[in-house]
Amino acid sequence: MTESLIERRARLLGPNMSTFYDEPVHLVRGQGVHLWDSEGRQYLDCYNNVPHVGHCHPKVVEAICQQAGTLNTHTRYLHEGILDYVEALVATFDAPFDTALMCCTGSEANDVALRMAQALTGKTGVIATDHTYHGNTTAVHQLSQTNPPPGGYWDSVRFVPAPDSYRPLGGVPGMAHAQAFAAKVQEQIDALEAAGHGFSSLILCPFFANEGFPDLPQGWLDPVQAVVRNAGGVIIADEVQPGFGRVGTHFWGHQKIGLKPDIVTMGKPMANGHPVAAVVAPAATMKAFRERFRYFNTFGGNPVSAAAALATLRVVQEEGLQENARVVGEYARDGLRELATRHECIGDVRGSGLFFGAEMVLDRGTKEPATAFTKRVANAMRQRGILLNFLGIHYNVLKIRPPLPFSRDNADQLIETLDQVLAETPLA
Ligand code: PMP
Repeated sequence: MTESLIERRARLLGPNMSTFYDEPVHLVRGQGVHLWDSEGRQYLDCYNNVPHVGHCHPKVVEAICQQAGTLNTHTRYLHEGILDYVEALVATFDAPFDTALMCCTGSEANDVALRMAQALTGKTGVIATDHTYHGNTTAVHQLSQTNPPPGGYWDSVRFVPAPDSYRPLGGVPGMAHAQAFAAKVQEQIDALEAAGHGFSSLILCPFFANEGFPDLPQGWLDPVQAVVRNAGGVIIADEVQPGFGRVGTHFWGHQKIGLKPDIVTMGKPMANGHPVAAVVAPAATMKAFRERFRYFNTFGGNPVSAAAALATLRVVQEEGLQENARVVGEYARDGLRELATRHECIGDVRGSGLFFGAEMVLDRGTKEPATAFTKRVANAMRQRGILLNFLGIHYNVLKIRPPLPFSRDNADQLIETLDQVLAETPLA
């Protein structure tokens, strides 16, 4: 069965459609934090952030079915659904965020955000980190150094080294690292000005999720924020990964690090698996964009999407899932720290809420990344029924990012299994 699916997939969808794990998983059902494969085997999902409030949450399923059985159109007709949702969404923000543009993917949201920044500044230069991912439209693909675009990079796109709290720029941690990061951004702003593009925006994930979620204190982005403001630029916060309560202490990643962005994008977990994304901005920014560019999105904000998104947001709030992320995340990280006392391969434990992991090294002294080992660990965990993955600048950080109803018992199972796998997996 699995073999024939792999063959059909390659034949029908083309090559290079990657799958997770050396032995791909054929999933047929999900419920809460669990998944089942075609042979009835249960997995603990420690990785999927899209089913934010749990796989197939009954309230989200009901909202989708109810609205799909009533009406689905687009936003050129009047409907309360999108308005009720945007009201509830912007209520989770600090002032002055009070409007939203609804679309379907994080890529689209970031693409719109880049144009919004252009509308505000009249400039085209964009800066991103050198190990990020913001999506796959032609413009947004330009921001990806890990997957170079065909035809090369536009001259108006520049990169700065991604923050790394374990191996900080220049070897100095904390605010000295923050100043060094800001200085790199200033260099690229100067280069964009000199090349005639001008500086429009700095786009970043405030949790630096794809970069390996470095541990950065509140205020760490203050120096870079000052540099961007001083140059008349705009900050786009990509909340596709940290948003909607996942980081536990705050609803949004930018609130956690104390960043005051100009434009915020979101997607993935927003409607628990239904394709919903958005750009949230102050009314004046939305006006500048809407007056400059005509924008319509056929599926964005349709009544079924709005119902799915509103049900998801309500479940996060009513079931206290942000607090659960904070408490269980801290508990699980304690478990990882305890493992680190017995497993030398764990060089660093970090993260926030239910977005955390461990950086694997061959040697704690040299911090040499244990990249191949980390991949072996992720595969061994899959064989034992625990789904997680790895990422980071050296692809040696175990990435643990489960649906938010993850419990202490689930954390115990994760930590106990990881303990066994680390003991059994050869480091070299
Ligand atoms: N931004 C970030 C930070 C992401 O991680 C991703 C997807 N992994 C995207 C944007 C793109 O979202 P989508 O796949 O919905 O287009």
